[in-house]
Amino acid sequence: MECIITRRANFSASHRYWLPEISETENIEKFGTSSRFPGHGHNYVLFVSLIGEINEYGMVQNLSKVKKILHQEVTSQLDNSYLNHTWSEFTQTLPTTENIARVIWNRLIGHLPLVNIQLFEHPELWADYQGKSMEAHLTVSTHFSAAHRLAHPHLTDAENYEIYGKCARPHGHGHNYHLEVTVKGEIDPRIGTIVDLEALHKVIDDHVIQLFDHTFLNKDIPYFAEVIPTTENMTIHIRDLLKLPIQELGAHLYKVKLIESPNNYSEAYS
Ligand SMILES: [Zn+2]
Ligand SMILES: [Zn+2]
Repeated sequence: MECIITRRANFSASHRYWLPEISETENIEKFGTSSRFPGHGHNYVLFVSLIGEINEYGMVQNLSKVKKILHQEVTSQLDNSYLNHTWSEFTQTLPTTENIARVIWNRLIGHLPLVNIQLFEHPELWADYQGKSMEAHLTVSTHFSAAHRLAHPHLTDAENYEIYGKCARPHGHGHNYHLEVTVKGEIDPRIGTIVDLEALHKVIDDHVIQLFDHTFLNKDIPYFAEVIPTTENMTIHIRDLLKLPIQELGAHLYKVKLIESPNNYSEAYS
């Protein structure tokens, strides 16, 4: 019986986005404040997922052994280090979140039956890598607040209460929505990114956040005059709004996840 297990590990490290072959002005233009000397740091959180048959001891892998390997091969080397100079791979390709995930995979694959490497640079930015050459996924998490009312226009108030419950109350109610946008792309062999992160944030901000934040969705967003703004319909609409602009950045929208409350969320793949 095959099963996937995941082990977490942490390390704190610094890095700098700086290419010696271009000028200071070009570095600043390309990387902004991330190019500043002598670098800046993150508290990275690593999730290593392993696949395998469950053995006679009820385990896919002995986690004490996994912990030891992660310490030996990754965290003892990277913790409190300056990444650019720590592993030679980072001289070739800058230590971006997606590239660190890729290099960690390459360093661990000889020791463990990996199925996914997930690396958080901070709680609102993480990468996933699954051993597919230069392909990686990058997720950014953001939020907006909006009000809505769930009611079908062709039904009576009584019928709407029957279907949507309290969500059909006439004057609406609000949520603090959390939005996770995952893009898929090829890691640039020199810069280490799959997409210009600042440009991605701007696309999400311009096409979703600025439109949705602090609105009454049913009244302020023309699309939701016709379509009931359930989490599902909002997820699909956000996916459709983001697909093309993300493509124009040279990446592919992979998934949109909209978390309406701690009790429910909706996901759509592109
Ligand atoms: Zn950084
Ligand atoms: Zn609601």
